[in-house]
Amino acid sequence: MFEKVLIANRGEIALRIHRACREMGIKTVAVHSTADANAMNVRLADETVCIGPPPARASYLNVAAIISAAAITGADAIHPGIGFLSENADFAAAVEENGFTFIGPSPEHIRLMGDKVKAKEEARRLGIPVVPGSPEAVGDIAAAAAAAREVGYPVLLKAAAGGGGRGMKLARNEAELARALPLAQAEAKAAFADDSVYLERYLDRPRHIEVQLIGDGNGAAIHLGERDCSLQRSHQKLLEETPSPALGDAARREVAAVAVNALERLGYRGAGTIEFLYQDGAFYFIEMNTRLQVEHTISEMVSGVDIVRTQIEIAAGNPLGHRQNDIRLCGHAIECRINAESPDDFRPSPGRISEYHAPGGLGIRVDSAAYQGYEVPPYYDSLIAKLVVCGTSRDECLMRLSRALDEYAIGGIETTLPLHQRLVANAEFRRGDYDIHWLERLLERDRRSDAA
Ligand code: ADP
Repeated sequence: MFEKVLIANRGEIALRIHRACREMGIKTVAVHSTADANAMNVRLADETVCIGPPPARASYLNVAAIISAAAITGADAIHPGIGFLSENADFAAAVEENGFTFIGPSPEHIRLMGDKVKAKEEARRLGIPVVPGSPEAVGDIAAAAAAAREVGYPVLLKAAAGGGGRGMKLARNEAELARALPLAQAEAKAAFADDSVYLERYLDRPRHIEVQLIGDGNGAAIHLGERDCSLQRSHQKLLEETPSPALGDAARREVAAVAVNALERLGYRGAGTIEFLYQDGAFYFIEMNTRLQVEHTISEMVSGVDIVRTQIEIAAGNPLGHRQNDIRLCGHAIECRINAESPDDFRPSPGRISEYHAPGGLGIRVDSAAYQGYEVPPYYDSLIAKLVVCGTSRDECLMRLSRALDEYAIGGIETTLPLHQRLVANAEFRRGDYDIHWLERLLERDRRSDAA
């Protein structure tokens, strides 16, 4: 087993990884920007290295500085966390070339799934149904229009190098497509330095269903059930639950089996997620994430499997410590993403947290690096806490979530807590009756009634 792991990330996920290391008796190195010198994950780490100024490009994306920090501190392995360099195949390769272990999949698998056009092609080859779309990137309007006629309107333009919903544009007809194509290309270029875009049929009321997977790199894989991440705004997840209220047992078994089979055929190593859209009883592959995900927590709560620990064990060359038959998925779990944002217009709300009290009690887990007096920096994404609640049934989970949200006190900045309070009280949400566009429709109704 490793003696020392460098955590190439920040905030709650850096703390999550630190905690797994601590429980395993592994020393941790926190790398941080000057803006994060007082962060909780930095305070708790065994060693710390400042790797640059606040902008991520100069610090958390600074490959040379991170690898130097690993060399100076004598770390054995690097955990990339989520975001930043976690899906950067060149980084994974550089880590290995410099003699450290990358806690994650092979650079080849990261590269394959990072190109969404190639990933879809691979998914088809692995027997996974995909959303009908253009088989390759569409370079100009003639190619885009031809592909769209084939697929049928409405279509969604998506960045081949995509992530975080950026570069996505909806077109309902050819005129809209002509307007949307250059915008999508420009957005993709700005976000990913790659202007390739492809198109897909736009599904009007799907659920986002994803399967948590772990592979041993030698052709064995397990799943920890599915997660329903349909509660989104601007293609960003806000609340996730498992199991999905939309699936019956047969559909649940089907999607897990398809996903596990794909991972086994890939010979995939480490944790990963295959994401699907689900509409009218059919699943369509949208992408695979070759890393840990923010919402891994809910799968841990219902399975009892520590996903981060398992990632570390597999990276260290240990066999998969769990067999599918031993895994029992019990009860229900929900995660609320608490962002430092205005709950009305979602504008970031950085600043000093003047009051902080997290909820507790049976079935409550809070993953957060925030504390009273902590200054939320303006440079990074706005997630400051994940409130994770489990119960023996969905009803119990909702009761508990409602109580936990009322207990949670965060002062001095605005957060999405009030939005979550509103969601748990909403009758449609309580019935599990929502799709990926549901929250946007709710917010749109609010705007109209405010304007009236
Ligand atoms: P990203 O990598 O940018 O996160 P994804 O392909 O994972 O992009 O899609 C993100 C979200 O966008 C999905 O969860 C879903 O809400 C929406 N989406 C993606 N593809 C489609 C589609 N074909 N039709 C409707 N919505 C879609």
